[in-house]
Amino acid sequence: MNLMSAPGAGKTTLLEATIKALQGKFRLAVIEGDLQTDLDAQRIQALGVRAYQITTGTTCHLDARMVARALDAFPVNDLDLLVIENVGNLICPASFDLGESLRVVVCSVAEGPEKPKKYPVMFNKANVVLINKIDLAEASGMDLKELTANVREVNPNATIFALSARTGEGMPVWTDWLQRAVAVHASVAMVSV
Ligand code: MG
Ligand code: ZN
Repeated sequence: MNLMSAPGAGKTTLLEATIKALQGKFRLAVIEGDLQTDLDAQRIQALGVRAYQITTGTTCHLDARMVARALDAFPVNDLDLLVIENVGNLICPASFDLGESLRVVVCSVAEGPEKPKKYPVMFNKANVVLINKIDLAEASGMDLKELTANVREVNPNATIFALSARTGEGMPVWTDWLQRAVAVHASVAMVSV
């Protein structure tokens, strides 16, 4: 799973809440992408989940070569789900295929409703759009219907969930969906072997 968003939309917090909900249900590990620091990898490791930090220096996205290099040091053969948290950026990460089977874009309500229209490539290629921080919707003056309509305009096929990783509201619908998606993917992979 390639997890993408603008900086500050809440990718790591969402990942922490997702891990807490699904821990023990399947085997998962995380590759983190940031320009500097291993702070996000530390947050994931604090939950008892294996995490590997890629620091890109000045590069504003991950590419498949960086992920391949990480996998040399970080074996993932025994996993059901590998999450790659991309560098926070709504522009070029959309154009780099990391070999993922699932593209998830996080958009927080505080970013404003026009984001999908301004960054259509990112939203158009998403399988799932997670609208995060709905606990702040009223304070942000965000009309969730308008944001959802704008996602639909650039990507009629995306599965959309509105949630708050911080309060937990809406999280079970997303984590149930993800658990089913991992199970379906595993059975399809088994059939094709
Ligand atoms: Mg992060
Ligand atoms: Zn870039």
